[in-house]
Amino acid sequence: MKKTEIFADYDRYILSTYSRTPVVFVKGKGMTLVDITGKKYLDFFPGWGVNNVGHCHPKVMSAVRDQIGRLIHIPNNFYHPHQAKLAREIIRLSFPGKVFFCNSGAEGCEAAIKFARAYGHKPHGVYGHEPNVVHGKASRHEIITMTNSFHGRTLGALAATGQAKYQNGFHPLPPGFKTVAFNDFNALKAAVGNDTIAIMLELVQGEGGIHVAGQEYIRQVRELCTENDILLIFDEVQTAMGRTGEIFAFKHYGVVPDLMVLAKALGGGLPIGALVVKEKIAGTFKPGMHASTFGGSPLVCKAALGTFKAIFADKMLKNTRVMGAYLMERLNALKEKHNCIKEVRGLGLMVGVELAMEGKSVFEKCLERGLIINCTQGNVLRIMPALNVTKKQVDKAVYILEQVLAEVSS
Ligand SMILES: *Cc1c(COP(=O)(O)O)cnc(C)c1O
Repeated sequence: MKKTEIFADYDRYILSTYSRTPVVFVKGKGMTLVDITGKKYLDFFPGWGVNNVGHCHPKVMSAVRDQIGRLIHIPNNFYHPHQAKLAREIIRLSFPGKVFFCNSGAEGCEAAIKFARAYGHKPHGVYGHEPNVVHGKASRHEIITMTNSFHGRTLGALAATGQAKYQNGFHPLPPGFKTVAFNDFNALKAAVGNDTIAIMLELVQGEGGIHVAGQEYIRQVRELCTENDILLIFDEVQTAMGRTGEIFAFKHYGVVPDLMVLAKALGGGLPIGALVVKEKIAGTFKPGMHASTFGGSPLVCKAALGTFKAIFADKMLKNTRVMGAYLMERLNALKEKHNCIKEVRGLGLMVGVELAMEGKSVFEKCLERGLIINCTQGNVLRIMPALNVTKKQVDKAVYILEQVLAEVSS
């Protein structure tokens, strides 16, 4: 198929929910993507936060190859070994609890929202009583989320997302959500009421422009939740799987959430999401209360097990900390030279460069020169290379970015 034919078919047959860049990719290996003309790209935003272990990592590929010839899918009213193994691995690396498997970030957030609602419909800590009654009052159901958050595009996740631009045109959204300023503990405390059942946030807001939650803030939020029997939900869809230099970002904060949502990088490129809930409250969900046809199929669980193996065998957490610090240092040096850079911020290899101008042309000019990055919120460059990125590759990316910044600001 020719490039022009592909574009024409997209125009003709695919709903235009995305603004697309006219590049057709056909192959990927590690940090490199190859387009249909044979041009190679250094990928510093692989798979929109999905390919933390790079494109087609051998450990993921061999896991998938091995499984695809045996069994791809079975329904969730039966058992298979890989779902058991993967859940055990996630729990071993996070906190004592239980896992529900789904297919995406939005679906994981929906599961978290439903779980919180179900928890709110029970008398405190007592299971199996009449629903809808808590101490003789209507149930607690309200979920507080943050401005500039992103939790996905399905209606519940969208209602949780604190950005009007994604919600416009889709009202009425499910009620029961309230949004407060991120990193502002007093605003959050003031918003908590008798109906509050959960607080949901990202430890590093990704789509919202790489805003890192403060240490003290998160400690206070955890305390507030514990004191008031409010569920603390960390949406780790983008921050997990080593992205910030820990396998899960919450490990930077010395606190443990009640619920954690995973997706994006979990399957090493294959679609899998998960809701992880603390042991003590896990009994809230009972058979029949939630489901997902494809959730946790043998193929994607095997891929996720391969992804964990890749991260640990290749010592990617350490590399993420070292290369993340190096990348930030190089970008901060650029900031000294180019006043179009307002701020460099991030955690591990989740890095944002806030510009004093629109970032679209920077993204486009980097792409022309063979470097893929992302631009979010109009003026924040999002740079999230695979976790096994080398110093040489960081140097090359920074070199291209510097050339582009010099060009656009001259
Ligand atoms: C991407 C993202 C989602 C949504 O994930 P999908 O798989 O696109 O539904 C939810 N939360 C966060 C933090 C994300 O980055």
